[in-house]
Amino acid sequence: MTLPPHFHFLQRGWINSNTVIITGGAGPVVVDTGHPSSAAETVGLIGQIVDLAAIRLIVNTHCHWDHIGGNGALRGVSGVPTAVSAATAHILTTHDRRLMWLDYFAADCEPVTVDITWQDGDVVELGAYRFEVITTPGHAPDSIALYQPETRLLISADALHERDCGILNTAVHGDHILDEAITTVEKLQQYDIALVLPGHGGMITDPPASLHALARRLAEFKTYPEKMALHLLRRVTMTAVLLAQPISRQQFIEEALARPWPHDYAPRANCPDPERLLHQLLDDFIQRGLLREQDRNLSSLVPR
Ligand SMILES: [Zn+2]
Repeated sequence: MTLPPHFHFLQRGWINSNTVIITGGAGPVVVDTGHPSSAAETVGLIGQIVDLAAIRLIVNTHCHWDHIGGNGALRGVSGVPTAVSAATAHILTTHDRRLMWLDYFAADCEPVTVDITWQDGDVVELGAYRFEVITTPGHAPDSIALYQPETRLLISADALHERDCGILNTAVHGDHILDEAITTVEKLQQYDIALVLPGHGGMITDPPASLHALARRLAEFKTYPEKMALHLLRRVTMTAVLLAQPISRQQFIEEALARPWPHDYAPRANCPDPERLLHQLLDDFIQRGLLREQDRNLSSLVPR
């Protein structure tokens, strides 16, 4: 499926969020800027599509580091303001490391300056189009999606990936976020959507089917919370490998065990031994051809 005019979709790999660029109107708008470790690459990719000096606005869909990591670099080039939801503004301006998951994953990210805040239901002009701002709590309490009615296009961020959504970090936010994610799916199902540009993965060309599949997955998580824990553990393990590689299995597991997530989620996945579980997750990735272990070092076979 081709994109409507003025939309540009930069699909990235596992770590980096996708970036959406909307041109026309008062000037280009950039939605989400990838992971801090790829900031220069992200700015380079955006610069291949638009004149960086002409960018009018950066939008961040939520506070996670893989969506805001290129903000500083882009702002440095174009001096452009940043718009986020009121909830995201609060987290970013206080640099709330807990809600940003930075403490949880022992990560770091430079502070983000916020200039404009939006509320649920706001209508905002981005490039050639008007969008409705939709709050979408679940994966992140501060998340927004952007809906464009004429083209029936939704920028969903991590509230909806193809038949999936971003991880549900119940250890940080509490078990209620699963219900919030379910409510968010029901909310999005009220919209007439023809095409979705998600925060990770490819364009979604059959949004109703994808939302239906996500609703089923979340219902399954409700019945079998261990599957929700495993969903998170897989994503986080691969992310950790991508950030640390090349790294020996032993060192990887040592470093992972020094962080909270394996200890919180192994019991939730019905596995009492976090170390054994990490070995199993790595073995499973190797078996599925997503990870390689060569010369005693792990390296990922999925794009960043
Ligand atoms: Zn996220």
